[in-house]
Amino acid sequence: MPGFELFGAEERKEVNDVLETGILMRYGFDGPRKGIWKAQELEKAITETFGCNYAQLTSSGTAALTTAMYALGIGSGDEVIMPAFTFVASFEAVLSVGAIPVLVDIDETLTLNPDAVRKAINSKTKCIMPVHMCGSMANLDALSAICAEHNLILLEDACQSIGGTYKGKALGTIGHAGTFSFDFVKMITCAEGGVVMTNNKEVYVKSDGYTDHGHDHLGVDRGADLHPFIGYNFRISELHAAVGLAQIRKLDTFLTLQKKNNQSLRAYLETIPEISFRVVPEGGVDSCSFLSWFLPTTELTQAVVAAMKDEGILAGNFYWFANNWHYISKWDHLKNSTTLGRISPEQETALLQLKSASFAPSDAIMGRCISTAISLVWTEEQIKDKGEKMVAVIRKVLSKN
Ligand SMILES: *Cc1c(COP(=O)(O)O)cnc(C)c1O
Repeated sequence: MPGFELFGAEERKEVNDVLETGILMRYGFDGPRKGIWKAQELEKAITETFGCNYAQLTSSGTAALTTAMYALGIGSGDEVIMPAFTFVASFEAVLSVGAIPVLVDIDETLTLNPDAVRKAINSKTKCIMPVHMCGSMANLDALSAICAEHNLILLEDACQSIGGTYKGKALGTIGHAGTFSFDFVKMITCAEGGVVMTNNKEVYVKSDGYTDHGHDHLGVDRGADLHPFIGYNFRISELHAAVGLAQIRKLDTFLTLQKKNNQSLRAYLETIPEISFRVVPEGGVDSCSFLSWFLPTTELTQAVVAAMKDEGILAGNFYWFANNWHYISKWDHLKNSTTLGRISPEQETALLQLKSASFAPSDAIMGRCISTAISLVWTEEQIKDKGEKMVAVIRKVLSKN
């Protein structure tokens, strides 16, 4: 997954262009910046690479989600349906706009189960937010149909799936809006950064204004801009955008390496008949940033995790079920509504209800799932060594149980 593994001369060159002028901000200073507009260039590259009409860079993926929600008109008391398996940023963003995260079960795609989504819809529902976890995607046709039927917004959290596609379209460009993260461990990094993508001009114009204190960017200079609505500061800097610009030019290389390494490792695990793999919806192409695989039971999976740890080969293998960042089972701060300041009573009630909510169908999937992060810099020998060791440990556990 991480583009930082192939950081080099290209990134340094782009950053140096900015350092030469000293104009570190993306707006204004037209003379001294000598034609260097890295954020604008990166936005253009994003629209061309991923095939969307508009792209608005932000300071993080979390900021991109918040921005997209405001631009889509999601606010106080609105319910946003999202999966119980995601990164904490997804619900943080929902809470940040005053909305209510409604967590629902996942299926073997490792993201939203469309039947669970249907059951969660009520008169307050405003948005369905699939999170395309670990490089692959939700069943977007099913979710789009539900959105059309109930007049709901489809917002894709594609922060972890840069480069994946569904029926020929890039993930993140299929819903009313979609977001990527460019944080340090994502497919393309800016160090910190994110983007809102959309085909809707109004959503773009609002995102553009919101990320820069509501500026309309129509004045002759910043001082002459008007403020048609209240915004915030989620700007990306030119230095961060410069890194991303070098990275996006290498995306094809990253994806090719990732696919190759993913397939090589998968071939080893495929020799074990008890192992099955994450379901990719028909028409979907996985970005291959992770190889996600299932064992037959939670007990066996926990035994394999323990054995991998004993053998010193657990690094890079994620057992999300017991991980503090990604699954509802460990989000005590969310379930206890532990916030620094007061949130709305509606939000608090909804969070406290999560404590007694059951996610048995998700537990049954996440309990059996291990995701192996795919490195861009593995050699064939390293993959062979890794694959053989994993297979040996798994076989040993299976033979004893
Ligand atoms: C990384 C990530 C984010 C947030 O991105 P940041 O840039 O770290 O704020 C949001 N959602 C998911 C699923 C992510 O993996």
